[in-house]
Amino acid sequence: MTDMIPAAKPIIGDEEREAVDRVLRSGMIAGGPEVAEFECEFSAFVDNRFCVALNSGTSALHMAFLGVGIQPGDEVLVPSFTFAATANSVALAGGTPVFVDIERDFFCMDPDAVEAAITPKTRAMMPVHLYGHPAALDKYKAIAEKHDLLLFEDAAQAHAASLHGIPVGAWGIAASFSFYPTKNMTSGEGGMVTTPSEEVARRVKLYRNQGMEKRYENEVVGFNTRMTDIHAAIGRVQLRKLEGWTKQRQDNAKFLDENLKGVVVPPVADGAVHVYHQYTIRVVDQDRDAFAAEIGKRGIGSGVYYPIPNHRLPSFGLTMDLPETELAAKQALSLPVHPSLSQADLETIVEVVNSVASAGA
Ligand SMILES: *Cc1c(COP(=O)(O)O)cnc(C)c1O
Repeated sequence: MTDMIPAAKPIIGDEEREAVDRVLRSGMIAGGPEVAEFECEFSAFVDNRFCVALNSGTSALHMAFLGVGIQPGDEVLVPSFTFAATANSVALAGGTPVFVDIERDFFCMDPDAVEAAITPKTRAMMPVHLYGHPAALDKYKAIAEKHDLLLFEDAAQAHAASLHGIPVGAWGIAASFSFYPTKNMTSGEGGMVTTPSEEVARRVKLYRNQGMEKRYENEVVGFNTRMTDIHAAIGRVQLRKLEGWTKQRQDNAKFLDENLKGVVVPPVADGAVHVYHQYTIRVVDQDRDAFAAEIGKRGIGSGVYYPIPNHRLPSFGLTMDLPETELAAKQALSLPVHPSLSQADLETIVEVVNSVASAGA
């Protein structure tokens, strides 16, 4: 049996191990200098915005909503076709997630559908840069100004992506990144809030640390969602490697774009830099799950993100008419695109996918 080409593969090297060892030896496992350094270095990737590191991407989303001041009764427009943390974080902050359909080409929330979903209770919207492709941020910025809404970004999958030269994470009142091991860079677990507002950054830090800026003078009811120095040290090393890994993802994607046949390859919007957290095709002429099983038998790992749209999960249990979301949930299939792929791996992926595609058509 041939080895499986995995759908994702975190890369951890000697430098990360040395960084962890340095922190462990220092004795400052939490509350040391690494977290502040990581925040400072990450800031360079988001047009020098304020950065606050958290213990997960989910905490980053949650604390961003609390820090900006989303209130019970506030509606926040989000896609249903995303990871559950997107809408969960709205609900956890006390807001009401309102699910909106996606656009066909880029799998991201549809700005026209967003405008149609605005009600007097709408306070904010949060597009997700799904699979590493930036959402239509220029349009969201215009909608935010026209309707006086707050723009948040779920950038968990899109480190270093950009639109018209402006990086994701630098468009709205707050954005959240994830450093979970399968993301384009990792800190083990971790997340980051980015914001242009010093006051929002201060409030995110409050919620991160029990509601306290001054010891025992708690201003709000807060959490412990702090990042440890161990995690920050790993993140700092990975951040230095992000650019090279992103280039490799883009080169891998280019090879797949040019060579795959019989499936719909992912287009890129004008002015967008896609960072290919996932390389997601649409399987249109045959059953996607059978297709995935067949390429799996021939050694190609793949992933289905996401088979059940959020509005239909038992946690929300809504009946809604979101046709593009339903179609994507049936057709989307993510192929390996990670930086560890060799040229031989890429050729095997093309050979197997093209052969299964042509057999089923
Ligand atoms: C991974 C992810 C999150 C959550 O990040 P964690 O670090 O796993 O908590 C949120 N939104 C999206 C779109 C994600 O992919």
